[in-house]
Amino acid sequence: AAEEGFDVEDVEGAIEAAGHGPLPVLAIIGRPNVGKSTLVNRIIGRREAVVEDKPGVTRDRVTYEAEWAGRRFKIVDTGGWEQDVLGIDASVAAQAEYAIDAADAVVFVVDAKVGATDTDEAVVRLLRKAGKPVVLCANKVDGPSGEADAAYLWSLGLGEPHPVSALHGRGTGDMLDAVLEALPDAPAQTFGVGVGGPRRIALIGRPNVGKSSLLNKVAGEERVVVNEVAGTTRDPVDELIELGGITWKFVDTAGIRKRVHLQQGADYYASLRTAAAVEKAELAVILIDASESISVQDQRIVTMAVEAGRAIVLAFNKWDTLDEERRYYLEREIETELAQVAWAPRVNVSALTGRHMEKLVPAIETALAGWETRVPTGRLNAFLGELVAAHPHPVRGGKQPRILFGTQAGTKPPRFVLFASGFIEHGYRRFVERRLREQFSFEGTPIHISVRVRE
Ligand code: GDP
Ligand code: GDP
Repeated sequence: AAEEGFDVEDVEGAIEAAGHGPLPVLAIIGRPNVGKSTLVNRIIGRREAVVEDKPGVTRDRVTYEAEWAGRRFKIVDTGGWEQDVLGIDASVAAQAEYAIDAADAVVFVVDAKVGATDTDEAVVRLLRKAGKPVVLCANKVDGPSGEADAAYLWSLGLGEPHPVSALHGRGTGDMLDAVLEALPDAPAQTFGVGVGGPRRIALIGRPNVGKSSLLNKVAGEERVVVNEVAGTTRDPVDELIELGGITWKFVDTAGIRKRVHLQQGADYYASLRTAAAVEKAELAVILIDASESISVQDQRIVTMAVEAGRAIVLAFNKWDTLDEERRYYLEREIETELAQVAWAPRVNVSALTGRHMEKLVPAIETALAGWETRVPTGRLNAFLGELVAAHPHPVRGGKQPRILFGTQAGTKPPRFVLFASGFIEHGYRRFVERRLREQFSFEGTPIHISVRVRE
């Protein structure tokens, strides 16, 4: 590295930054109007979130990336929940349950001016049951005079209340320090130490694509008794299913089976549910209704799984209903609407007839293999050397930027760092990614490529 003009510390730093792997997840929960959205905005340092949303406008974004004191994590924001759907108590509880389930740690926001309400007490019981680390945020403490209000919240039995003004930023730093102490380095449920046992699969897709039918079909008689499988924790929302001679854990299946009929807020509910399932899984089987046009909602779900860095299998369901014309148009739609996952293995199934169910497992295995692939540095650099020699970067301003060397910084999904002598254009990065995929068969997995330029 040194002779190429990078010093060793540069290179090591870049590799570490790129190899961070999946981020731990923090959920922000609490009653409506306690200031969750304001707090999320404050933490992510952006103004894109919920407070400005008009009532009735559906938000589909429920997770954000955040950073504090050099550590990155994900935030699950529950501020978009519409509490009038189920009644306040039920909806706060339901929302909290999903969010807690998906999270590695929780910030429980209470309005210190109001004090602890019965609904807050109910959430405390849920938190106790879940046993996840909790940071208690006593919000709306805008000045020193509010500190006494915050102190009352010791009564919740969740430890020290952190007095915060999400609106003005007061106390948020101290609270975030406490959050970092509570957060594990990596998402425990999915990747942490001691995680073993069956591979975790999220079956996702917009309403009515056939998730519950597919689950019933594959589960059928194959449902596995939880206790029989070593190394599995009993989690009522997950289901162990044997397919192709292998036991898989389908995460969050309760959300698929339980038919909650909501009018308002249903889309938000579905998004939160999907995000929670994706966070817990290694691989997402994204179910798409092949009989209907591919929709923006399908694409959002795909984006969610790609951004989360999960392995992906696309399953086109209701194949039994397709005529020749629809099949023709579907192929065109897939090319244009699902170009971002052109690398994902694809199966055409029918949950109704059982068509091609046996193809699901090989597709899942292929995608997981791609997701875990590690390319040895020697092979990678031999490949890069040949590629750069045969297809040099276009000359810009009399100079020719060159990829000098590279390394794979991490897996699940594969992450690469390339070191270059000058700015590498977007088009060329895409070209390199395409060739990397061809060469090393990253079927079914997103890959991350970051480029470091020599100063
Ligand atoms: P959410 O429903 O829990 O997401 O609550 P919001 O973030 O939408 O906040 C509800 C209301 O409380 C808004 O009018 C905010 O401006 C206000 N609010 C939030 N945080 C604070 C705070 O720290 N101090 C004061 N005084 N008001 C706040
Ligand atoms: P979910 O909302 O994604 O769980 O979807 P459901 O499993 O409830 O299915 C929605 C509707 O599509 C139901 O009426 C199912 O019977 C129907 N359906 C599901 N899979 C298939 C399929 O492969 N072929 C046909 N023709 N209908 C299906």
